[in-house]
Amino acid sequence: MSTFHPFPKLPLEIRQQIWEMSVEPREVAVGYHLTRRRRSPPPSLLHACSEARSHLQGQYTKVFGFAEPLTYLERQRMKEPPIYTWVNVKLDTVYCAQFTLEQVVSELPLVRWLIIEMQDPDYWFYNQCSTLRHMGKTLETVTMLHPAPRSKSGRFDSRWWTEWDDWMESCYFTCGPVHFYTRIIWPEFPEAGEINPDNYLKIERDWRRKRWAVDPDQWGTVSDDDDDRMSAPGRFRLGWRHVPGCTCSYKRPPNE
Ligand SMILES: [Zn+2]
Repeated sequence: MSTFHPFPKLPLEIRQQIWEMSVEPREVAVGYHLTRRRRSPPPSLLHACSEARSHLQGQYTKVFGFAEPLTYLERQRMKEPPIYTWVNVKLDTVYCAQFTLEQVVSELPLVRWLIIEMQDPDYWFYNQCSTLRHMGKTLETVTMLHPAPRSKSGRFDSRWWTEWDDWMESCYFTCGPVHFYTRIIWPEFPEAGEINPDNYLKIERDWRRKRWAVDPDQWGTVSDDDDDRMSAPGRFRLGWRHVPGCTCSYKRPPNE
């Protein structure tokens, strides 16, 4: 804006509209325990000038994202300045660590797009998955990053998806799937592709067929049917369920 000299001469209302139109969506890393990237700096517009800052600040939320047991008050008592990140919840994708998720979403209950750096899929499944299930309808997409290999020489494991099978099944293998879309990737290994609600059943089905082709005795019968909701001899998936209290019309065959 420094080269656009007439700008300060524009009416305040117009200047404010221009500030608003200049706000861009960002991917904002917040909170503690991040391992793949650093906490994001504030959006540059908030530093453009005091007028922009005071006008735009209302669109942003300060996010602290402390991991337990370090609370905001505890930090204040320790006389350290609290570190926060600015998030525009209507535009920004929020990137956080698994172990700060509860704090981050309590500060940003209306978050729409989340990226979570995972460290422990087991802990997630048993202790944290209800956090997302109980979030408001604004949540649209959750991208989970499979844990990074522990060392630089860590190798690709073609069965990495098995760690996420229970989570996907609990969210989507039902007549009342969760309202948000889950995507799971392993950033260090592009060949891992992506796990999502549209392919997680097929990934497992393909794997079982491959195993069965090699060793039919050990793996029993295998159905040709790709409809995982259907009950049939040798079908792949048990456990498809109705959500409690549902009145949907889908009826399982009687042998299920
Ligand atoms: Zn149902």
